[in-house]
Amino acid sequence: MTSYRPVTPAILAELETIVGRAGVITDRERLEAYSHDETPREQYGHMPEVVLAPASAEQVAAIIRLANRERIPVTPRGAGSGLSGGAIPVHGGMVLSSEKLNRVLEIDGANMTITVEPGVITNDINGLVAERGLFFAGYPMSVETCCVGGNIAENAGGGKAVKYGVTGRYILGLELVTPTGEIVMLGGKLVKNVSGYNLIQLIVGSEGTLGFVTKAIIKLSARPKGRIALLALFSDPQSAIDVVPRILGEGGVLPTGIEFMDRLSVETSCRYLNEHLPWENCGAMLLIEVDGSQPAQVEEDAFTIGRLCQAGRAQEVYVADNATTLERVWSVRRCIAEAFKVYSPAQSLEDIVVPIAAIPEYVRRLAAIADRHELLIPSYGHAGDGNLHSTLVKNPAWSDADWLAREPVILREIYGLVKDLGGTLSGEHGIGSKRKDYMSLFAAPAELELYRAIKRAFDPNNIMNPGKIVDV
Ligand SMILES: Cc1cc2nc3c(=O)[nH]c(=O)nc-3n(C[C@H](O)[C@H](O)[C@H](O)COP(=O)(O)OP(=O)(O)OC[C@H]3O[C@@H](n4cnc5c(N)ncnc54)[C@H](O)[C@@H]3O)c2cc1C
Repeated sequence: MTSYRPVTPAILAELETIVGRAGVITDRERLEAYSHDETPREQYGHMPEVVLAPASAEQVAAIIRLANRERIPVTPRGAGSGLSGGAIPVHGGMVLSSEKLNRVLEIDGANMTITVEPGVITNDINGLVAERGLFFAGYPMSVETCCVGGNIAENAGGGKAVKYGVTGRYILGLELVTPTGEIVMLGGKLVKNVSGYNLIQLIVGSEGTLGFVTKAIIKLSARPKGRIALLALFSDPQSAIDVVPRILGEGGVLPTGIEFMDRLSVETSCRYLNEHLPWENCGAMLLIEVDGSQPAQVEEDAFTIGRLCQAGRAQEVYVADNATTLERVWSVRRCIAEAFKVYSPAQSLEDIVVPIAAIPEYVRRLAAIADRHELLIPSYGHAGDGNLHSTLVKNPAWSDADWLAREPVILREIYGLVKDLGGTLSGEHGIGSKRKDYMSLFAAPAELELYRAIKRAFDPNNIMNPGKIVDV
């Protein structure tokens, strides 16, 4: 176990010479906001000793060099919307925030790229490039709040991944400050690049453990001219999921996304939003979206998918084909997590992945686990890529101590089921500190040792986001 040194007044004074007084936060009340992400604060939160808000890669490099020299842990942070404790400074030390690194450096229409600093809000990119007929295909459900740096570090997925894939596909270049304080530029505006090891894709998804991203060159796509979403209601989860492989296989149409929501999820989100979708008589819903450059083709694709849903015993299929109705149906999906937080802040939002065909068995066996342990475990998520956000919601009759004792037991049972079905621990939210102790259930000792060797090669003193993914 690495031992770390505290942030002393002398170190604070040195930090002030790097970022100025305003860039060094030590006020306890302000530090508190950086002590947690979207995992339950009481369970996973940890206070930093100082938060730093640098405004350039050079400042980031100077801070990291100092931290490396003094053996002080550094935790990169974007918007703090993470769901795995990745941005939580579990060993104290410094939080390095990207809040002032939020400039758009270049929009290059000819190469269809945008170059941004890591603190840019993901959704803002689309506002900036829309008039050029372009868009960024990354679409985590937190798109309006999360930052590009956090998306890269988590390799964020979301509601459009079936067609467009996940964040990593769009990262052509990265500027990285390494854990020893060197600034390196990886890649560029290059669509193809096999010159050497693929360090860009190693950094993507490495959860801020291998360096701090200070710049990203992002590939843009042609903005679709048509978009239609279908909301299909089914009597039970099995019937809903049975349709997914038919859509992907027989339909000859690649939907943008296929989202699954069990009845409990839809009901809770609708109540939270005061929305009136007809969930009362259905057991599950699929939200399926298609898009494309030819509106007539998009309509035909939507028709084909609607037909497959009906052939798959959908009770009803509703069509959302304008901005207002599209936003209405998507907001029900986007707000599920928030809605359950209101029901109970004590919960565990999971991110398991199983082969798509195994989803019905997963949902069935998960319901049995929920019954046996007498708690709610709604399931919703990205059915088109087998990634479900089953959420353990504390039974209100349990004390907090009960919950803390029972949660790991139930989680191990669920992870056992996931492993049994050929699945894994996280599809898009990452391991962070929340899931670190469960990594050995899915990764063999030799694989974990490779992770440690990579970490040591980048970060010999283990100062960069320690306590995440795997212990070194
Ligand atoms: C309501 C809700 C819905 C969500 N839906 C989705 C979804 O559909 N798909 C999905 O993938 N995720 C989803 N998330 C999770 C979260 O929004 C994503 O993981 C997002 O990518 C995190 O971005 P952030 O800026 O908030 O990062 P943070 O939470 O601040 O940090 C996340 C990780 O990135 C690292 N990091 C941040 N900035 C940098 C940097 N500059 N350099 C190196 N490392 C850095 C941190 O150390 C940490 O490990 C959702 C979250 C919420 C609350």
